[in-house]
Amino acid sequence: MTPTMESGDILGHEAMGGVVDFGKDVRKFKAGDRVVVPFTIACGACRFCKMGLTSLCDTSNPNAEMARKVMGQSPSALFGYSHMLGGVPGGQAQYLRVPYGDVGPIKVPDGLTDKQVLFLSDIFPTGYMAAENAQIQPGDTVAVWDVGRWANLPLKAHGC
Ligand SMILES: [Zn+2]
Repeated sequence: MTPTMESGDILGHEAMGGVVDFGKDVRKFKAGDRVVVPFTIACGACRFCKMGLTSLCDTSNPNAEMARKVMGQSPSALFGYSHMLGGVPGGQAQYLRVPYGDVGPIKVPDGLTDKQVLFLSDIFPTGYMAAENAQIQPGDTVAVWDVGRWANLPLKAHGC
């Protein structure tokens, strides 16, 4: 139902796995490292990336003009989330190619399980940022509205 998805596109913007190979400019990782891959794709060098606003990276989305026409502005490219957001194949696949491999992925420290870190790819930082933006303080009571799409699914399904 997302605009500009096409038949055969690979979904999945919440990914983690093991590094099997890397490009010549990747310095942070080696084969065998476990990584969590954020769903935003950031170059690490543009004005927004240098400000720490990587979801606004203005160089990673080759189809930014398409996104501007639909949404008024373009975020960074996103894994597995339509052609207007880059057309980058997502993580529901055996392998995932990660552009700007030294920028986004986070190396998973030894001793942490996959289940403990998977949600660092999207859900946890998204919720954390929402809590920061809402200026939630200890002891506050909050209500969360959602579109209900995931409301009746068991938690396990959120990691797909
Ligand atoms: Zn950037």
